[in-house]
Amino acid sequence: MSDTNVTSMESLEYRTEVKQLLDILAHSLYTDREIFLRELISNASDALNRIQFEMLTNHDVVDPEAELAIWIDVDDDAKTITIRDSGIGMNRDELVENLGTIAHSGARAFLQNAGQSQSTLEEIIGQFGVGFYSVFMVAEEVTVISRSYRPHDKAARWQSSGDSRFSLAEADKSDRGTEIRIRLKEDAVEFATTWRIESIIKRHSDYVSFPIYVKGKEGEARVANRRTALWRQSPSKVEASEYEEFYKQLTFDDKAPLLHVHMVADAPANVRSILFVPAHRERSSLRLRPEYGLRLYSRKILIQEHNKDLLPEYLRFVEGVVDSEDLPLNVSRETVQSNPITRQLRKALTNRLLKELKNLAEEDVAKYATFWSEFGVFIKEGMASDYANREALQELLRFHTTHTGADGWATLKEVIERMKPDQKAIYYILGDSLKSAMRSPHLDYFRKHDIEVLYLTDFIDGYMVSQLREVEGKPLQNVDDANLDLPKADDADAESAAQVSQDAFEQLTARIKQVLGERVRDVRAGKTLVDSPARLVSPEDDFARELQYVRRVIEEDYVAPAKILEINRNHPIIANLASLVSANADNPLIDPAIEQLFDNLQLLDGVYQGSVADMVERIQKLMGAALIRG
Ligand code: ADP
Ligand code: MG
Repeated sequence: MSDTNVTSMESLEYRTEVKQLLDILAHSLYTDREIFLRELISNASDALNRIQFEMLTNHDVVDPEAELAIWIDVDDDAKTITIRDSGIGMNRDELVENLGTIAHSGARAFLQNAGQSQSTLEEIIGQFGVGFYSVFMVAEEVTVISRSYRPHDKAARWQSSGDSRFSLAEADKSDRGTEIRIRLKEDAVEFATTWRIESIIKRHSDYVSFPIYVKGKEGEARVANRRTALWRQSPSKVEASEYEEFYKQLTFDDKAPLLHVHMVADAPANVRSILFVPAHRERSSLRLRPEYGLRLYSRKILIQEHNKDLLPEYLRFVEGVVDSEDLPLNVSRETVQSNPITRQLRKALTNRLLKELKNLAEEDVAKYATFWSEFGVFIKEGMASDYANREALQELLRFHTTHTGADGWATLKEVIERMKPDQKAIYYILGDSLKSAMRSPHLDYFRKHDIEVLYLTDFIDGYMVSQLREVEGKPLQNVDDANLDLPKADDADAESAAQVSQDAFEQLTARIKQVLGERVRDVRAGKTLVDSPARLVSPEDDFARELQYVRRVIEEDYVAPAKILEINRNHPIIANLASLVSANADNPLIDPAIEQLFDNLQLLDGVYQGSVADMVERIQKLMGAALIRG
């Protein structure tokens, strides 16, 4: 590197998190090292997209006429690979900022995960990439020489061997863009052949839209990528495998997508788009680039990398590209949002996507079940927020019910078809887990009479039903409603089978009220209980109860309003407790038994707010008594 002025060179230390990352990379046995090339090409392509966008409005740039491309030179004697682009470039400060720190907020989380095990590292690198630094899996030394597009910026040189430091100097580079020279490690010289480089490009970067010229020490440069804008082709000409490859190269996800939607239309707005539903949700929470959004192009020029206006927020798990010739080329990223075309596109894309999901549900039940397990909560979020598409979304909903159990799913339509002739509402039970909801005393009556109940155990469910209210004219009703208007309510049975005298029952009721105090609104005989001793029901005027689950999570000091305690006169626990109260009101077991009965119900409803220590102490007292008798 005789072109640099040694006196102006300085040496800087990497930020801690970079050192950590480099250390992990250097010591990893990571097998899939070739992805370093994908990362460098993706950076070059980003830089080219940016200069292309800049030049839509600004012509005062270095080399305005330069071809937008990537050049890779391979020298198998010198064991070097050089990757050059005519992109936006970096000045000295940008080199320090971009290649000396990890800018992404997800980086820390990434490092924590990567530190844990080898397999996590492989998964994460494979799936998300680690950006520029992955070059140190193969490089002995890396030199980056870059010249920014700004005419007054000076060219600069960055160099590092992947240890704790990097050096900076001025450089002599007159053309715009970035050049990355890689001196390969001894065990990575296999990468210094053009065929290897070309095959990696085919695998990982085939759809990069700028030409990638690959050249050996001798011979001509050849374009190694196909550069197709797949979304601008006719869907009938695109193979399933091409969609899959495109998805993988677009998202760096190594699993095939669950669904692709290729949309080509000229009215009401011109649109060429491919949307993908990934096969798994973790992508979105773990990714190094935590931003979601669609890539928005106008005539193949990338306008925005993460557009959030083209689909409603609840569809944020969708990946893909949208290209519209109706968006003016000089549109700024800020004005995309307010452009009327954006609104039209959003409507068209949303409708189409929801329709395709419906088709998937009809045509491939197993695949749809996967979709639902991964992304059902997003659809529920849509139910609560997207009024315009409520009907389409409603058809996408799936529920576990008392009929399907934990392994099956029911649609609302099926639940309505299974309703009893005299059934007035669609019933649901809210809970914080399927297991506890399944054992709830609220279900006694419904089980006995074979009436289907929806299990609503997702965080968002309470919010969703509070918005949904009714389906096809049938109201939705919570089974904990105090005034359930149930068909075939068999009060007579209950009355006749009662084992407890009215007097004893009244004494017990009074005692329970005294023990539980403000914690219950009322205590009374339950008409719907069969196998359970008691249940807690919500008073009629408690309109916001669906939101209790949400509020309990969000509001730290939220106290749920008191409920009505219904007790089952026919249940042995209640009968024995009543006899105990009549026989000897001072028996020390009465109060702990009442407390425990109440706590059990709260636990089953997923609303327990008491102290575990108190409960354990109480249970031990009751156990002690039971064991003496046994
Ligand atoms: P990411 O691409 O996810 O931002 P990287 O580690 O791959 O993360 O790159 C870090 C940053 O370095 C980029 O965001 C970009 O600003 C800069 N950079 C890397 N390569 C180039 C390049 N060839 N041209 C211009 N800037 C680049
Ligand atoms: Mg990158």
